[in-house]
Amino acid sequence: MAGRHFLQIPGPTPVPDRLLRVMHRAMEDHRSSAFPALTRSILSRLPQVVQQTKGEPFVFPATGTAMWEAALVNTVNPGGRLLAVRFGQFSHLFIQTARALGYQVDVIEEPWGDVADPARIEAALAADTAHEIQGVLLVHNETATGVTSDVAAVRAAIDRAKHPALLLVDGVSSIASLEFQFDAWGVDCAITGTQKGFMLPAGLGILYLSEKALARVDSCTMPRAYFDLRAMRANNAQGYFPSTPALSLLFGLDEALTMLLEEGMDAVAARHRLLANGVRAAVNAWGLRQCAKRPEIASNSLTAVMVPEGHDARRVIEIAFTRYDMSLGSGLNELAGKVFRIGHLGDTNRLTLAGALAGVEMALCDAGIPVTLGSGVGAALQQWRVSA
Ligand code: PLP
Repeated sequence: MAGRHFLQIPGPTPVPDRLLRVMHRAMEDHRSSAFPALTRSILSRLPQVVQQTKGEPFVFPATGTAMWEAALVNTVNPGGRLLAVRFGQFSHLFIQTARALGYQVDVIEEPWGDVADPARIEAALAADTAHEIQGVLLVHNETATGVTSDVAAVRAAIDRAKHPALLLVDGVSSIASLEFQFDAWGVDCAITGTQKGFMLPAGLGILYLSEKALARVDSCTMPRAYFDLRAMRANNAQGYFPSTPALSLLFGLDEALTMLLEEGMDAVAARHRLLANGVRAAVNAWGLRQCAKRPEIASNSLTAVMVPEGHDARRVIEIAFTRYDMSLGSGLNELAGKVFRIGHLGDTNRLTLAGALAGVEMALCDAGIPVTLGSGVGAALQQWRVSA
């Protein structure tokens, strides 16, 4: 098809030309005396993305899923007890990863479309008077349902319960697009990948640890090999990595950091908020519901849209793909066929999204879901006009 493909899934996101160009270069010797400059440029600036001033960031050739494992095996002893909230496919998979590693996970179930309830976390921790629970697993932005949990409120709940558990936060679809305050929210461990807010291909996993979490790395008795942060820390301190780094992606990450920090993380978050407001206005104008149960928990990085009863969201997605050259995110697990997801994170802007919303309108109509053509686009443009 002529023209460009609209990649409107919530990751991987479109890669800006500036990042494609910087990654398109010859390989270098990762043991050379020149190499540490790149390592240091990345590791010294990664903390700014999440407003971290204490602790350390780590980068692995890996993805977000791998960073769940890296976070756990470096901070939680074998068989350790954890507390997690399940409210979507990614919180479900985080729990599954922990269980596969032999941890015991107490699960607080919330309906999909809702978020973590700090009061329930507080109650569960308060009941653990022996302080067996070593960590609380929280997905900040549940990409399956398009909702954002309040990390600061969860930290406050842990503190109210006077519980020493670490707070381990999945920020895969929030970090580098939504506000993330690592220090101020009392996060001990945050994980992400490069294919969302960082606007790069998948392939690097990023892990941030607080000083409290770092203190556990050496004493943790969990067997680890590839994800052993002791080796990573020792190498990083010299400007190197323990194994061959994914060089192209590191060049890309270095430039992505420049782009994000040039824009400023507050401006990045504000841009995502503005774009999300327009998409939500479009969904309302179509008369459709979001998967997010309340407006205040709706995510600014993606919107999960419910199709009316009797319709199959997979058909909308297939029509958008085959007729209009646009990829939309599918419904995962229990949401399969019930929702389609519009990604609006990373390298995107109002006019790109206006085109995407136009494509959604046509696909909806073609799938027999009656919406007035132009209604959603018009509602979004009202939000997005500079004078609006
Ligand atoms: N956590 C969240 C919130 C995600 O959205 C994803 C992927 O979309 C993952 C974890 C898994 O990350 P990856 O696919 O990079 O392994």
